[in-house]
Amino acid sequence: MVRDQHDGFNIQPSTNPTSAEARTAKIADPGFGNIFTDHMAVINYSQDKGWHDARIVARGPLSLDPATAVLHYAQEIFEGMKAYRLADGSIGLFRPQENAARFNLSADRMAMPQIDENLFIEAIEQLVKIDMDWFPNVDGGSLYLRPFMFASEVFLGVRPAKEYMFIVIASPVGAYFKKGADAVTIWASENYSRAAKGGTGAAKCGGNYAASLIAQAEAAKNGCDQVVFFDAAEHEWVEELGGMNLFFIFDDGSILTPPLSGTILPGITRKSILQLAKDQGLRVREERYSRQQWEDDSNSGKLLECFACGTAAVVSAVGKVKSSRGEFTIGNGSTGQMTVKLRQLLVDIQRGNSDDSYGWVKKIT
Ligand SMILES: *Cc1c(COP(=O)(O)O)cnc(C)c1O
Repeated sequence: MVRDQHDGFNIQPSTNPTSAEARTAKIADPGFGNIFTDHMAVINYSQDKGWHDARIVARGPLSLDPATAVLHYAQEIFEGMKAYRLADGSIGLFRPQENAARFNLSADRMAMPQIDENLFIEAIEQLVKIDMDWFPNVDGGSLYLRPFMFASEVFLGVRPAKEYMFIVIASPVGAYFKKGADAVTIWASENYSRAAKGGTGAAKCGGNYAASLIAQAEAAKNGCDQVVFFDAAEHEWVEELGGMNLFFIFDDGSILTPPLSGTILPGITRKSILQLAKDQGLRVREERYSRQQWEDDSNSGKLLECFACGTAAVVSAVGKVKSSRGEFTIGNGSTGQMTVKLRQLLVDIQRGNSDDSYGWVKKIT
């Protein structure tokens, strides 16, 4: 492996930053993914130099040759994480090492180079530091961070590229789902799969999202907020939503989530919820769960609660499931007690309102 030529970030502040007034207006009601801060972190990779030219520069358009590899063969991966303003006024990242490690797993699957975990985290910290005035004050607000890497080599042959760019951008965000939304309704897709064994389902690559959009559009057409995918082979086993993992809470004191079998994205929220649920005395089960069982357990009342989780939306109750065969309701169709509890436990740690006994929050100093 080539030694990285990395020795610190070159910080080049924007010469035309957003005025304080304009910034205040923008972050007053940020929504999700609409507005962006003034800077970005950029690092280049080439086979001979490794990672080099780490820098913080003004955020702006990239100029790409039309033959840039990513535009043709989609060698691209990303991460999604948040920086929070903590109760004590400092800024914290939630389990950033987990994102760094997962980024490298995604890179591995997509035949892309590894990036040193400390360099990955440093890029994020440098960006958050220079744009720290961009934290929105709204309820549930945070600074959403989007690290990503793509094949930047100008070449049309089909093989792993020899050049890449790693970039981090930041977006002040409010709540992911529109205000007033309680439990979401999800569409059980019968026509499409998200991932198959041996495929890229466990990698956080843009292509997975591209493949899920048509099913998401079908869900929207049927009045649903999100789509749930089943396994590609039998279309029977519950996997996950387009960008969130699923949990089921039963009347016997157990909580279930589908196992990481290679077709499910290993969510960091999922991993954290598993721990917090155990701490609550729930019996944690990473087991397969069928579409039929889901419907039967909902109708019999054995299934008390169901929720989806991920960094963007945190924890979101699922109240109803629809498909071309009909629909069924979970519990009374609204957010259940344990869902609220688990969400609160997680948010309290993320925002520094409770003891961080697992050391999940990394403060930016
Ligand atoms: C990112 C993602 C998740 C959630 O992962 P978190 O680390 O909890 O944010 C779940 N499913 C898919 C498909 C994803 O891309």
